[in-house]
Amino acid sequence: MLTSGLDILAIAAHRDDVEQTCGGTLLKMAGLGHRTGILDLTRGEMGTRGTAEDRAQEAAHAAKILRVSWREALDIPDGRVENTWENRLKLAGIIRQIRPRVVILPYWEGRHPDHYTASKLGYEACFLAGLAKLAISPQPSAVSSEGSDFRKVASVMSVEAREKQNIPSAAKARKMGDRGGMTESRALPGRGGVPESAGGAPAPHRPFKVIYATLYHDIRPTFVVDISEQFEARFESLMAYKSQFSDQEAGKDIFPARAEIRARIEAMARFYGMMAGVTYAEPFLQKEVGLVEDVTAIPVKSI
Ligand SMILES: [Zn+2]
Repeated sequence: MLTSGLDILAIAAHRDDVEQTCGGTLLKMAGLGHRTGILDLTRGEMGTRGTAEDRAQEAAHAAKILRVSWREALDIPDGRVENTWENRLKLAGIIRQIRPRVVILPYWEGRHPDHYTASKLGYEACFLAGLAKLAISPQPSAVSSEGSDFRKVASVMSVEAREKQNIPSAAKARKMGDRGGMTESRALPGRGGVPESAGGAPAPHRPFKVIYATLYHDIRPTFVVDISEQFEARFESLMAYKSQFSDQEAGKDIFPARAEIRARIEAMARFYGMMAGVTYAEPFLQKEVGLVEDVTAIPVKSI
């Protein structure tokens, strides 16, 4: 059901993480009529190949393929995602503005510190975003203070795509509020607006559900999403990061060629698909138990 903001927001440390771990699920959810979005915490400036600007263009292309309604990148330093109070507030401010019902986070263990830190940072930001007495006021001060993080929020959706979907970027929404006295609720998606607290900042909001994309870590998922029909598009969204994955000379020892990537991605999706008796799937974990109404309707065959 659509209310305001987005239905599902996937938060990840790096551009291309979502494409690898839960892109098929986002595409499938968009097909069901849900409004989806991606928030990348970093902009990829430490990548061996290409610049942050290259990566922004590639991310915008990937977002189109995955049919997400909104995509932005924060400016947390690549390779230095830290669970600080400042970063938690930064993220909580976005969550209040975007108001997702479901948040997808990376799993909380893993090889890359940015990934597991993004998980804890994301969870704690979701918690903080719902605290009624916590005023998150980077908005007004951020707009006026030169070089603030909010000012540097990097939008990757093309203006054209944004206008088509009538979704301004967080940065743009703030700018509009700054210049024209327009409140953020009016600047945000035309779906009844975003509730405001007394000061004009978005009201507290806590996502109903937090789920974890576990593909990067060897852990048994609690459920998988069948992405058999979305698999090809999801692979193409990953291939949109040409600077990372195309067959080229620079860094070829650490960057496998397209055919190799395809084989790996397919093997993983097949593996999780087989767990549930479908062709391709993406794995997730939820901390809560599953609630069942009708035991005759539980999917996935036992024997
Ligand atoms: Zn990553």
